[in-house]
Amino acid sequence: MKNIETKLIWSGDIRPRVHGAVSLPVFQSSTYEYSEGGSYDDVRYIRLNNTPNHIVLGKRLADIEGAEAGLVTTSGMAAITTTLLTYLKAGDHLLAQNILYGGTYDFITKNLPEYKITYDLIEGSKPDEWKKYLKPSTKVIYVESISNPLMEVPALNEVVKFAKENNLVSFIDNTFATPVNFRPPEIGFDISLHSATKYLNGHNDIVAGAVLAKADMIEKIKHNLNHFGGSLDPHACFLLQRGLKTLALRVRYQNESALKIAGFLETHKSVSKVNYPGLESSPYYKQASRFFEGFGGMISFEVNVPPEKFIKNLEIPAYAPSLGGAESLIILPAKTSHAGLTDEERKKTRINDNLIRLSVGVESTEDIIDDIKQAFENL
Ligand code: PLP
Repeated sequence: MKNIETKLIWSGDIRPRVHGAVSLPVFQSSTYEYSEGGSYDDVRYIRLNNTPNHIVLGKRLADIEGAEAGLVTTSGMAAITTTLLTYLKAGDHLLAQNILYGGTYDFITKNLPEYKITYDLIEGSKPDEWKKYLKPSTKVIYVESISNPLMEVPALNEVVKFAKENNLVSFIDNTFATPVNFRPPEIGFDISLHSATKYLNGHNDIVAGAVLAKADMIEKIKHNLNHFGGSLDPHACFLLQRGLKTLALRVRYQNESALKIAGFLETHKSVSKVNYPGLESSPYYKQASRFFEGFGGMISFEVNVPPEKFIKNLEIPAYAPSLGGAESLIILPAKTSHAGLTDEERKKTRINDNLIRLSVGVESTEDIIDDIKQAFENL
């Protein structure tokens, strides 16, 4: 199997098929019989992430991301926190991109210091500055392939190079790009993380996460996940595996639709700024074109009209957090995903009150553009 479309359907499949079932059944059993002569290492139990649903999904996700092995978790945050706490101990230091998903940012800046793990924030596109923050205790560098909510693309190759030169583990949250558009292990990233709640599942109906890396790293992370307890329920595994089948179809459509919508927004008089790496005007266009096969379905933009009134006038996108599903969703990051930040932090990270984030679903592009037009006209 060479291409992602085929891998999404078949990678890691169990053969012979269970009673001939073409779709892997849900193994709704918390525990499993010992095999003959089995030891503790052979125990199969949902929390130990080793039921057939976990195993197939881990292999499939690893294969589509271009990684050796994979693990699913109860949420994107479970994937992120478990993996960070596997590679960081008291006294360690990490470098993290200065604009990240709010939950990740909060965990790094508020929770990790409670465990005596310190951090410095770096500008993702300014690799020349990173060296000055390096300490003998620095162990990890952490970025997002497309950052939330400003759609910045860090200097991806430089992150890998810097990590290798300085013996750091490179982490990347690849949720926004998806493996359809970008596969971080192919350029040398050590660990890819996902909120599988978003594009991987794609239907706004479960919460899940994924970690993809070399097999020995996944073993180490799995050991901690088994203890921390963030194991995905088999039924959610089943739904994630079902959602994954259409990932390539959905994401390619969303790439195309978002590019058209971003282009339209850029010309609208009520829009003062559009953040989308697929626009030639974006400072990240060159970098994104070099590494990505598509620019994704996420757009953010600043308006010069009352943002909440505009959102309330919209008929199609739901005013709801989260992203990456079939349904278009729209939010004000300052009031939702980044509400935990202080005013000063938000100012520093350029998350202004008039910034709107749109997750483009799989509805008709024309209908979404018409809806945006009428929402501005009816203010
Ligand atoms: N990473 C990114 C980029 C996200 O946008 C989110 C959630 O919005 C997360 C991680 C956290 O994922 P979850 O909500 O599945 O825990």
